[in-house]
Amino acid sequence: LKLLQDRILKEGKVFPGNILKVDSFLNHQLDPNFIKEIGAELARRFSDQKITKIVTIEASGIAVAIMTGLELNVPVIFAKKHKSANMGSGIFNTTVKSYTRNTEFVVSLSKEYLNADDKVLIIDDFLAVGQAALGLVDIVRQSGASLTGIGIVIEKGFMDGGKLLRQQGIRVESLSVIKSFQDNQVIFED
Ligand code: 5GP
Repeated sequence: LKLLQDRILKEGKVFPGNILKVDSFLNHQLDPNFIKEIGAELARRFSDQKITKIVTIEASGIAVAIMTGLELNVPVIFAKKHKSANMGSGIFNTTVKSYTRNTEFVVSLSKEYLNADDKVLIIDDFLAVGQAALGLVDIVRQSGASLTGIGIVIEKGFMDGGKLLRQQGIRVESLSVIKSFQDNQVIFED
């Protein structure tokens, strides 16, 4: 997506450890009109599916997910992060390792909002090693809902997440795929 690539090139900052910061429009300050366009494009790519729910993870996936949900006219559920497992029969739990923070946390979602009749689209801002996405896939599987696919704003194509998910037969749509960071410059795949 051209407008996204242009924005990343203009405002993205590369940090040690292959971290891209896009805090001026996506991860700290949020640009509503821009994210609305991102959401509309993700919705367009999955418009052939009869999606009933969008699932994302707090906090950075929520903005994109809500704009996608607005376009598809479906509810958006964000999985919540905890330090330890949330007990109780009413909750789906899964464990996720954080690549950016180098920690492990439990992610949970209430059984009230996801069931076997649902057709789910997973949305997140970044795809790196795929831990966050795999955690959400695990929760969707626990619920018995069908997974339609995963929509990502920025995929780091030089990391294994995308490969891992696609190998499982999951449809992954990324609006931009980064090939590499060269001298702190972002190089995109075509
Ligand atoms: P994964 O689990 O695929 O390794 O990473 C996905 C999560 O880590 C995303 O939800 C995102 O919040 C965060 N993340 C991974 N790489 C980056 C990055 O380069 N920049 C930012 N801002 N977040 C990232």
